[in-house]
Amino acid sequence: MRFEGKVAIVTGAGSGIGRATANRFASEGARVCLVDVNEDGLQGSLPEGDHMILTCDVSDETQVEGVVKAVMDKWGRIDAVANNAGIACTKEAIMDNDMAVWPKVLGVNLIGVANFIKHAGRVMCDQGSGAIVNTASVAGIRSGAGGNAYSASKAGVINLTQTAACDLGGFNVRVNAVCPGLIETGMTKPIFDIARDKGKEEKLGSRCELRRYGRPEEIAAAICFLASDDASYITGQALPVDGGNTASL
Ligand code: NAD
Repeated sequence: MRFEGKVAIVTGAGSGIGRATANRFASEGARVCLVDVNEDGLQGSLPEGDHMILTCDVSDETQVEGVVKAVMDKWGRIDAVANNAGIACTKEAIMDNDMAVWPKVLGVNLIGVANFIKHAGRVMCDQGSGAIVNTASVAGIRSGAGGNAYSASKAGVINLTQTAACDLGGFNVRVNAVCPGLIETGMTKPIFDIARDKGKEEKLGSRCELRRYGRPEEIAAAICFLASDDASYITGQALPVDGGNTASL
């Protein structure tokens, strides 16, 4: 019960890793605000215990400010934020990119994270405590995994994590990131569907040392570790949670 009496916000909580993270926070005693642009997804994510759901597009600063205000109005504090909302893009050479994709992907995956760091970070600085965990990706560490706008957005999240850790560290607020490898979620469903159709599901895990793909709960566990006091002396770090995918770089 590491989050007894604490308040956590989880973005992208309507599916996949965010849903698992909201559940993990709740199972350890947190009051959880689940945020997503997809209302139906949120309805399918409701955890046990005290919680609230808010539909919000994380790329819109005004909406993010509204979420932070609503949480403060209800619970009066914010101890943890899991910045997890994200979108993918097609994997193709940059020469073939539809450039309209870039502001969209960066808006959600990078600026969405910055919006919450700014507004929840202000609350945490006033409190003199708090922890923010951003979901980056192995695609932010090396190229090739997710399409160029996606990979660039995740590299940006890793860099933003370091910058924000410097800005907020003096207020006893920690900022870290997780870098998941391949996890079965809504985002990766098309990849899994194709592999299963071809009878090649096992191949999906073959690029990492543990020889299997990951589960959303395994990322949620790492996020909640970094958000908890167990990680009280860790800030500015990007932790690969990838079955060893990046170990053999
Ligand atoms: P998912 O599609 O299952 O969940 C993502 C959630 O984010 C969805 O519920 C979606 O509605 C929400 N979302 C999208 N745009 C939003 C917006 N503008 N505002 C608010 N919510 C929005 O995918 P997932 O795999 O659980 O993704 C979670 C995070 O993990 C993402 O940041 C993704 O990039 C990252 N990630 C996933 C994998 C993987 O293999 N699944 C690997 C590395 C990183």
